[in-house]
Amino acid sequence: MAPDHTVSGKFDLLLTGATVLDPSQDLHDLVDVGVAGGRIAAVGHDLQGEARQQIDLSGCLLTPGWIDIHAHVYAGATTWGVSADALCLATGVTTIVDAGSPGWASLPGFVDYIVAPSRTRVLTFVHVSGLGLIYGPIGECEDIRYVDPERTAAAIEQWREVCVGVKVRQGGHQVGDHGIEPLRRAMQAGRYTNTPVMVHIAVGVPLDDVLGEMRAGDIVTHCYQGTGDGIVATDGNVEPAARQARAKGVLFDVGHGGGSFRFDVARAALSHDFVADVISTDIHAHNIDGPVFSLAETASKLLNLGVSLEQVVRQCTTAPAQAIGRPELGTLKVGAVADLAAFHVREGGQFEFRDVAGEVMVGERRIEPHLTVRDGTVYRPRELAAECEEAIARARQMRAFTGRDFATLGWAPPTG
Ligand SMILES: [Zn+2]
Repeated sequence: MAPDHTVSGKFDLLLTGATVLDPSQDLHDLVDVGVAGGRIAAVGHDLQGEARQQIDLSGCLLTPGWIDIHAHVYAGATTWGVSADALCLATGVTTIVDAGSPGWASLPGFVDYIVAPSRTRVLTFVHVSGLGLIYGPIGECEDIRYVDPERTAAAIEQWREVCVGVKVRQGGHQVGDHGIEPLRRAMQAGRYTNTPVMVHIAVGVPLDDVLGEMRAGDIVTHCYQGTGDGIVATDGNVEPAARQARAKGVLFDVGHGGGSFRFDVARAALSHDFVADVISTDIHAHNIDGPVFSLAETASKLLNLGVSLEQVVRQCTTAPAQAIGRPELGTLKVGAVADLAAFHVREGGQFEFRDVAGEVMVGERRIEPHLTVRDGTVYRPRELAAECEEAIARARQMRAFTGRDFATLGWAPPTG
């Protein structure tokens, strides 16, 4: 799309002074970025021209808007869901992908009540269980009758602009006695729609069985989980099955979550050069106020574990865009939608980071969100702080409700 030349100037927005890092075009340079008509209009040295709004980002790192491909944002309708819209825009995330909160039966509501009103771009994997992830306490695939590849595929086809693939959780708590049958049905839905399947790995189902079913482009999420049946063997080596899966094109995603990211597992994998393809949060009601907090915080953990800044930015922009089949996102190429993120990368500090096992890691570097541009509109963290606090309060409310032990209240069944 050509830049929109308006009477008031060449650019609607001109961002100057930042170090721009865009892995999609091997760009790492001190350049200006001009935005017009909601699109990237120019990237270059000392861009000249009138700008309706000019922002000096000296000292900042400027990247394509970040893409979080594993989150749970179906707030109010599921036990996990959080209202992440403000948090995304406060932390550099311009596209958030729900990892299977909606199943086919609850997808229309997700489209109307979450996708439509959000300022952040919201996409989703559709859970192969028609229930989706509505009810945390009982596994969504324990009753196999809910697992329906035809209806899942039909829903993806009908809401193609919102749906990026199929989700299945393959831990013992989610599938009960059904082994990899839910995964087989998810793969069927993925083949019908030619979309990737995101597979949650966890203890209870052998990793070899799970990875054996997966195709190039399918995504393992929770790659640094330590519950069991993970990618790092008890001797600290990476499982051969994980290497074979990677060789055939299966992607590996961090999916931090409330129980699925351990520093010791990540360290072991990284020491054998097994770097995740994508970083994501798996943010939900049980981790939004720690230990996940945000994608920038999750990325900072990997940065302090030894992954380079360039690689971390790739894992949060270009790589997730490709993983969800949206290569037009996660880039600052001229003509792309104007989704950008500016950060301060703090150096030489004593920052504390926590994993799901409670290990505290002190790191010297931290990626701190400064400003987000979504579809040409500028958002600053402080303007969104009240909304973020409200989302956290709502998450705590749901958490208390989900975890409450009503048996202690002494209510008796009605008589008479
Ligand atoms: Zn999840």
